[in-house]
Amino acid sequence: MKITVSAIKADIGSIGGHTRPSEEVLEAVTSFVEKGMKSAGIIDLYVAYTGDDIHLLMSHKNGTESSKIHKLAWDAFKAGAEVAKRQGLYGAGQDLLKDSFSGNVKGMGPGVAEMEFEERQNEALVLFTMDKTEPGAFNYPIYRLFCEPSANTGLILNPKLSKGVRLTVMDVMEGKKAELSIPEDIFLIAGLLMYPGRYVVDTIRNETEPILAATTDRLHNIAGTYVGKDDPAAIMRLQKDFPATEEACSVFKVAHYVAGDTRGSHHMPLMPVKVKTAASSNFCIPIVSAVLFSMHEGKFTAHTDAFDTPDWDYYRTKAVKKAEFMREQGFVHPATLIPEELEYSKGYQSMMEAAKKKFK
Ligand SMILES: [Mg+2]
Repeated sequence: MKITVSAIKADIGSIGGHTRPSEEVLEAVTSFVEKGMKSAGIIDLYVAYTGDDIHLLMSHKNGTESSKIHKLAWDAFKAGAEVAKRQGLYGAGQDLLKDSFSGNVKGMGPGVAEMEFEERQNEALVLFTMDKTEPGAFNYPIYRLFCEPSANTGLILNPKLSKGVRLTVMDVMEGKKAELSIPEDIFLIAGLLMYPGRYVVDTIRNETEPILAATTDRLHNIAGTYVGKDDPAAIMRLQKDFPATEEACSVFKVAHYVAGDTRGSHHMPLMPVKVKTAASSNFCIPIVSAVLFSMHEGKFTAHTDAFDTPDWDYYRTKAVKKAEFMREQGFVHPATLIPEELEYSKGYQSMMEAAKKKFK
């Protein structure tokens, strides 16, 4: 049975700053999708949030880029944004950049990751969602998962993974995509992924099947100018010919430094958190959550929180320590981003204009 899984996400307002959506907003979005599920052909729905971003995970048979699915998600976010406005939530409707729907939410503000595949007998997948960072935050974990046997023994032990995969990288400045092969192009891939502000992991597939899809389309559609930090999500299929669940999740225990956090203008470690965690008020440490699903005939039969076990508390503590080390650096780069990537760079630019006048 061919199933499409679509993850569509947006920040439509949050409580007291960029923290998390209110229960009322979540309820408005969820009930809107539930009412339209049948007519849109949605088999199952999962709704959660990570920091200020709401994620809809929908299964259906409409294929990718289905206008029915995209319109329902768009209208649901609009309905949620109305509630957010009535509640005076911060940034109410901020990711809904257009007034009217035109067939596809790509380029309209929300992020989309989708893939269509022949469902396996024991289909397993994970939804990774991040807040206070950028799509390039996936670069290093994904590189380690598919390219580094020292991080993932499965690359040696699983013949399908040893054979390699095809990786699509997006250049967010040019809006172009490049398809590269692992292991043949491994150093070329490393060279690109070294700069997550410009090159980001888009999709991964083996010879016949999709494995990963990430939300990069918003960047693609607004290419040409630097679009700032767009909190990403990715769907990844797990087990059998794909990475094992524990391989896919453990690459996030590094808590590597990523761009984002306060004012989208700093570097801080990526902290693995439990599902439905608000953004940290500690300088907005970037966060990632992971929900594991079993799927049968398109139904999300059960799900569990991948970062909920006690060992992940250790990695959360590690991330906080790494955050402390970086914050000791204050405003000095690399604690802050390079000028071209500063999300609020207009303020920085005017500051520099004033400074230039002082130079004689
Ligand atoms: Mg966010």
